[in-house]
Amino acid sequence: MKPVKIVIIGGGVVGASVAYHLALRGERDVLVLERAARQGLGSTGRATGGVREQFGTEINIRMSMYSIDFFENCEFSTGYDPKGYLFFATDTAAFELLKRNAATQAETGVKGVEILDADEIERRVPAMNCDDIVGGTFGVRDGFINPVAVMQGFTKGAVERGTRIELGRKVTRINVTGGRVAGVSTDIGEIACDAVVVCAGAWTRELAATAGVDVPVEPLRRQIVWARCKEALPPDLPMVIDAGNGFHFRPAVDFWEQDEGSARNRDILIAYPDRDEAPSFNTQFDAAFSDKVNELARHRAQFLFESEPIVEKCRAGLYENTPDHHAIIGGCGVEGLYFAAGFSGHGVMHSPASGRAVAEIVLDGKASFLDVSCLSLERFERGELLTETGYI
Ligand SMILES: Cc1cc2nc3c(=O)[nH]c(=O)nc-3n(C[C@H](O)[C@H](O)[C@H](O)COP(=O)(O)OP(=O)(O)OC[C@H]3O[C@@H](n4cnc5c(N)ncnc54)[C@H](O)[C@@H]3O)c2cc1C
Repeated sequence: MKPVKIVIIGGGVVGASVAYHLALRGERDVLVLERAARQGLGSTGRATGGVREQFGTEINIRMSMYSIDFFENCEFSTGYDPKGYLFFATDTAAFELLKRNAATQAETGVKGVEILDADEIERRVPAMNCDDIVGGTFGVRDGFINPVAVMQGFTKGAVERGTRIELGRKVTRINVTGGRVAGVSTDIGEIACDAVVVCAGAWTRELAATAGVDVPVEPLRRQIVWARCKEALPPDLPMVIDAGNGFHFRPAVDFWEQDEGSARNRDILIAYPDRDEAPSFNTQFDAAFSDKVNELARHRAQFLFESEPIVEKCRAGLYENTPDHHAIIGGCGVEGLYFAAGFSGHGVMHSPASGRAVAEIVLDGKASFLDVSCLSLERFERGELLTETGYI
């Protein structure tokens, strides 16, 4: 195969966004390699589809602010639906933390994060048991996106501008000569290139290791119960999250169906971060998870507790965690080798900002629209870890 300028490994939402933003900058000689027969079978197609500005660190807040503007105004449909995120706290310490984060968000320029008392939360989600709730916060620009539509929109926009994508082609090795990228080996031959961007989600670490680089991304299974309630859900139900244990629910939407109005008005997604889960590449849904969710639902809301899981629609996917639960964006000690990975559960919502940042780093040496230097790989060596208290 003839040499290529830039190879992107991974055709999920992040790889697609990097390709799109390189194409917007006029870069035509870009090849995306995706090992699966179709895109979205990694974490992207299994996500919950939430987007929020309610984070605790300035960088995550700024990535979200930029990305929400993008979802709202871009040239393709993203399914952006600002129904809000309602975080609630069941003790004063958790409420204080939510309020501190809301202050950081306001200082960073986020508009419209409301501080709510328990009565107001009860008014907004009437069917929920609010007896133990102390207060919470609500982000008016937070809400939902369709991860599959976002990925497909980026891909179409990139391909229309000249990017090529090869499905069913697995990269087995990143080849390095004299400290710089020489190309990639794949299951069906070698490709010489000037630059490689690794967007391989939870599978990034093993690929980086073939180039002699350690990228601390760890896979962790996350499961989601899709359940049908007895009655119709409130029409404007936001994402609702217990800030203490991460238990959350939202109206269900099938992201793979073309019709975005296909949400059944009785179907709901329910999940929480299961502390018993150990790092692995397991993506099988485990029926026992429904029982654990139901136990939490019993206390929180009758309509959740009485809902029936739709087994064939329950799913599991991989979070791609880094030690500080922030993404890794940028280059490394190998010239021409870049990473956009380790989003720790926020990769869909941060895909617009990440794609643009990587395109600018590859083409200009640094991202100028947003300073993402705190997300560099070197932060782990330097011990400059970030602290995100809004990780779910
Ligand atoms: C249950 C769950 C809920 C989530 N909820 C949200 C949410 O509400 N909001 C949000 O923003 N994020 C959410 N996330 C996180 C989000 O899904 C990820 O951060 C995001 O999809 C990462 O995108 P990606 O393109 O980096 O990775 P992926 O979508 O995993 O794509 C990586 C691609 O690389 C390919 N690949 C891997 N190795 C190779 C190789 N050797 N050669 C070629 N191709 C390769 C894979 O096949 C895959 O398609 C959730 C994740 C899970 C599991």
